[in-house]
Amino acid sequence: MAASADPGTVHTSDARDLRALPKAHLHLHFTGSMRHGTLLELAERDGISLPDSLVSEWPPRLSAADEKGWFRFQRLYDVARSVLRTEDDVRRLVLEAAEDDVRDGGRWLEIQVDPSGYAARFGNITDFTDLVLDAVRVASEATGLGMAVVIAANRTRHPLDARTLARLAARYADRGVVGFGLSNDERRGSTADFEGAFRIAERAGLRLVPHGGELRGPEHVRTCLDTLHAQRLGHGIRSAEDPALLERIVEQGVALEVCPTSNVALGVYSDLTSVPLPTLLEAGATVALGADDPLLFGSQLLGQYAAMRAAHDLTDAQLAELARMSVRASAAPDDTKRRLLADVDAWLEGTAP
Ligand SMILES: [Zn+2]
Repeated sequence: MAASADPGTVHTSDARDLRALPKAHLHLHFTGSMRHGTLLELAERDGISLPDSLVSEWPPRLSAADEKGWFRFQRLYDVARSVLRTEDDVRRLVLEAAEDDVRDGGRWLEIQVDPSGYAARFGNITDFTDLVLDAVRVASEATGLGMAVVIAANRTRHPLDARTLARLAARYADRGVVGFGLSNDERRGSTADFEGAFRIAERAGLRLVPHGGELRGPEHVRTCLDTLHAQRLGHGIRSAEDPALLERIVEQGVALEVCPTSNVALGVYSDLTSVPLPTLLEAGATVALGADDPLLFGSQLLGQYAAMRAAHDLTDAQLAELARMSVRASAAPDDTKRRLLADVDAWLEGTAP
């Protein structure tokens, strides 16, 4: 046994390089993926003045404990959106998001976008979706990262807008759009009102991936499952509060897109050790770690794995299983999944090239 090794000796069996662990990234918002440096550069170019929390005090100190806190988060989001003015800006954002994920060991990325937020500046929602899909195709070819798009409706807008977006997403099913989501402040709007939109997406064979179970608890996760037929939950972390619900999630094979730094930044948990990832794993839930909005939370894909390794003393075998789950829960083609799963095994066995 090497348990009594020198204090200076690294315990090598659980110190593999997380950057080399192949991962699928299933929870990343288009605007929130912007590099901080790109935000500063584009704002400077167009003479847009940014709040201190996005410049000298970046990353901003946020809390969504109340509506005012969320409003502040949303304001920063709107400022970030406002710097994207040209088609080249959109292409740059997508390429940089891809490059950042590749650097972090990402091999598959599903980027989530609400085209209505950009429709006015880029023609209409169809034009903007075409632009994003073309940017994704180009970025994927340039970086080798497998990529797809999730169209997300905004729950603070009218449910009819969501139906329009669901029809748009349905038209692009099999042409780069793989899922339909529902985002923004979970405490606003009525989830059941979006049932119609989700039925349209469901009929089109899209993955149903609404946000739920972060700012609200188990009762809202149940609504997402019962009414929207969620197959993956954006966050879903608070399912950990309800063993019966967690059991149902495991039985139905619903994946949870857990975003630890987002949870802490928004004040859902006080610190990373309080993010109840071990509860989810012990129950056998499928978890895919995601960064959500690196621009506002200051942490990217690798940061999620590193933070959970440090906070919960995860073994390399557990980290490999997290990566496998992210791949299995993704919409990647089967041959891509097989390749990535084999590469995760190679990482764990120490035979990765
Ligand atoms: Zn999100």
